[in-house]
Amino acid sequence: MTTFRWGSAEDVGQVRQVNQDHLFTTDGLFVVADGMGGHRAGEVASELAVATFREHTDGSSVDQLVTAVQAANTAVVTQAQDNAEFRGMGTTLSAVARVRDTDGDGDLLAVVNVGDSRVYLLRAESQDLEQITDDHSLVETLRRQGQLTEEEAAVHPQRNILTRALGIDHDVLVDSWELLPVTGDRYLICSDGLFNEVAESKIAAVLRRLDDPDDAAAELVRLANEAGGKDNISVVILDVAEAETTVEGPGADRIVRVTHGEARSGSESIDEAIPARPAAVTAGATPAPEVTGGTDDLADAGSTTSAPAAPDAPPPAPPSPRSRLTWRVLVFMASFAVVLGGSVVVINWYATSTYYVGLQGGQVQLLQGRPGGVLWFDPETVRASTWDVDEVEELLPNEARLLRTDPPLYTDRASAEAAFDELIEELEALEVDAATEPSTPGSAMADALADTTVTTDTTVVESPTTTTTTATTAP
Ligand code: MG
Repeated sequence: MTTFRWGSAEDVGQVRQVNQDHLFTTDGLFVVADGMGGHRAGEVASELAVATFREHTDGSSVDQLVTAVQAANTAVVTQAQDNAEFRGMGTTLSAVARVRDTDGDGDLLAVVNVGDSRVYLLRAESQDLEQITDDHSLVETLRRQGQLTEEEAAVHPQRNILTRALGIDHDVLVDSWELLPVTGDRYLICSDGLFNEVAESKIAAVLRRLDDPDDAAAELVRLANEAGGKDNISVVILDVAEAETTVEGPGADRIVRVTHGEARSGSESIDEAIPARPAAVTAGATPAPEVTGGTDDLADAGSTTSAPAAPDAPPPAPPSPRSRLTWRVLVFMASFAVVLGGSVVVINWYATSTYYVGLQGGQVQLLQGRPGGVLWFDPETVRASTWDVDEVEELLPNEARLLRTDPPLYTDRASAEAAFDELIEELEALEVDAATEPSTPGSAMADALADTTVTTDTTVVESPTTTTTTATTAP
C-alpha cells in the first residue's frame, strides 16, 4: 500500500477577520476547501463540504471520489436553500486521495477539483513543480482563450471570480485525475491565498528546500503573509513515502486518466459543453468588482436556481446603459410628447382664434388674440387708429370705454373688422363735433381732426385704408 507523510498549515491572513478556508488531512485523504459568502456562510460552506466529502469517500475509486464531491455539493446547496442567511454561499474543493486502481490490485492517487484551489505536483526525479488542476475562474478561462497573458492573469483584479463552485447548483461538474503514486513525489494542495501572494518559483523553492511537510507548509504560509496575506491561506503537503509502482525514467507521466467535469446527468466534457452552453456561466450575472482582501466571488453566486454552474464560458458582457431604455419607457416618452404637442396646439388655437377691438398703445386697435393674452401668446395688432385717444378719453362713448375691460370677442375676422370700422367712424364723428365747439379743451385728436392739412395715414398692419377717409374730409 502507498504510504504518505504529510503536514499542513493555515492562517486567516493579514486582512480578513474570519478564516473561511477549511482543510482536512488523514492517511490517504487530503482536502482543502475555500468558502465564500457573507457573514459566516463561507465558513459554513467549506466546513460542510469537507465534512460531507469525508463521509462519502470510501477510497474505492476516483469515480467514487467524484460522487463524494457531488454529495458535498448537494449538502451545501441544500443548506443554502434552507437558510436565508446562507443564500449564495459556496466553496471550492480540491482533494488528493489514495484509491484502488480499476483492476483493484494496486493504488492510485485520485485528484478531484472544483473551483480555484489548486493541486501541484513536485516530481521526485526532476523536482519540477507542475499544476495538476485547472482553475475554474473567469480569469483562467480568459487566459486559456488567449485573451489574457499569464502575467496579466496573475494580477487581474477579477481573478477571484469563479466559474464553478460547490453550493451553486444541484448539478456540479467535477474534474478528476488518476495518477500513479511515485515514491518521493510531493503534492501541494492550497487555497488561492497562497498562490496569489507567492510566485510559483518561490513555492517550488520552499518545497525543494524543506523536507518536513509541516515545516514547508508553515514556511509557505509565512511567505504569503509576508507578501500581504490578503486572503485566508491554507496549505497541505503530502509526500509519497513509499509507492508500489515505479515509473521509468525522468519526466515519466503520472497521469493515468483525466476526466474534465463530467456532469452527473451526462457525459459531455467541459470543453465540449462551452459552445453549447455559453450563457450557463452566470444567467445574467456580471463580473463582480474586486473585493479588497481577496474574497472569492462566484460569477453566478446568488442565482442558485440558474443553469448548472458555469463550465468555463466567457464572461458575460456588462449591461449596456442603453438597455435601460425599454419599450415601456419609449411608449411613455412618445405618449408624453403627443400630449405635450397636443396641448401646445390647443393653447395656440385658443389664444389666436379670436379678434377684438381694444385700446392699446394709445390707439384704438383691432387685435388678434384675447385681452391680456394667453400664456406666451400676446395679442397682435391687425389694424390701428391713426390718432391718439388718451387725451379725449372722456369723449368716448360708454360702449367704447367697455373696450378697456371687457371687449366683445369675434371668432371671424370680417365681423371684427366691421366692428372696428364702425367704432372708428363713431369716434371720429364725435371728435369732429368736439373740435367745432370753442369751449372744448384742445386735444391732439381734436387738433388733428380740425387741422385740414393733416392727412393721417393708418398704421395698419394689414388694412391701410380704413381710418383715412373721414380724417381727410374733415372741415
Ligand atoms: Mg481564497
